[in-house]
Amino acid sequence: MKIADIYKSKSLTTSFEVFPPNEKVGLEEVYNCLDVLSLEKPDYISVTYGAGGNTKGRTVEIANRIKSQNGVESVAHLTCIGAKKEEIDRVLEDLERNNIENILALRGDYPVDRELEPGDFNYAKDLINYIHEKKGDKFSIGAAYYVEGHRETNDLLDLFHLKEKVDAGVDFLISQIFLDNEFFYSFRDKLEKLQINVPLVAGIMPVTNAKQIKRIIELSKCSVPHKLDKLLEKYGDNLESMKKAGIMYASEQIIELLAYGIKGIHIYTMNKPEIAKEIMKNIEFAR
Ligand code: FAD
Repeated sequence: MKIADIYKSKSLTTSFEVFPPNEKVGLEEVYNCLDVLSLEKPDYISVTYGAGGNTKGRTVEIANRIKSQNGVESVAHLTCIGAKKEEIDRVLEDLERNNIENILALRGDYPVDRELEPGDFNYAKDLINYIHEKKGDKFSIGAAYYVEGHRETNDLLDLFHLKEKVDAGVDFLISQIFLDNEFFYSFRDKLEKLQINVPLVAGIMPVTNAKQIKRIIELSKCSVPHKLDKLLEKYGDNLESMKKAGIMYASEQIIELLAYGIKGIHIYTMNKPEIAKEIMKNIEFAR
């Protein structure tokens, strides 16, 4: 089923993100994670692409597994930075062969450790246009947005680029992690004024590990509210306590977003299904 149709038929969706196997996480572990996540009956599970370089090939395979064995709709992420059209063509064919109907179309990040060969795409918008040009309405396409702005651009320009991206033919938007809901509310107001009316999905990352969050803050432009800072200060050195505090924080964040009429919650599971499961339990009453 196309994600566009899911958003048309439901007033609230919940979904998860997983990443493919890498040097640290094996395929079996990813499959076990999917088996637990699918019991939560999410509206879809998305699979990241390209992080870690050689994991690209596995995205389609895992997206297929989610649909065929877990019985859950799937979204395959696809990045275009440094890619030639032929590579994108191959992935699109592969997606079609595997009956995957949904793509999260992204630019991708510039690698920090090597020069990138020039590709055929500069921005996510170019990829979105290309998919529509090659495949018409075959895929439902989503894209990324940044409630605190994308770190490479100023906020106003980023809004302008987001509008261009949505106008290229996007059915839904998933946000980068944000830890302070106020940024989401004011961003949503701005999008309304710009008449960006596609469903806005909140990307929620449970902060269950102090080291991990430091890295994420470095990579993104995400502010840490005082309340979370205090939790990190108090529980950051104790893995078990931090996990519990992080689950509580993410659950409260979601419950508040639901009260403010959010259309979709997308949990960045980091392939830790038990954390997503706990959050789902906490928010059950509010859904
Ligand atoms: P774009 O929308 O192309 O924007 C990138 C930058 O270019 C922005 O600063 C924008 O303002 C600017 N820009 C856009 N158009 C123009 C223009 N015409 N002229 C000048 N500047 C312009 N990365 C992965 O590698 N794999 C993944 O699976 C993955 N999944 C993600 C999922 C989500 C929900 C999110 C939020 C991010 C994900 N990322 C992933 C990270 C993403 O690739 C990076 O955040 C990347 O830096 C930007 O991607 P984008 O698609 O938002 O780019």
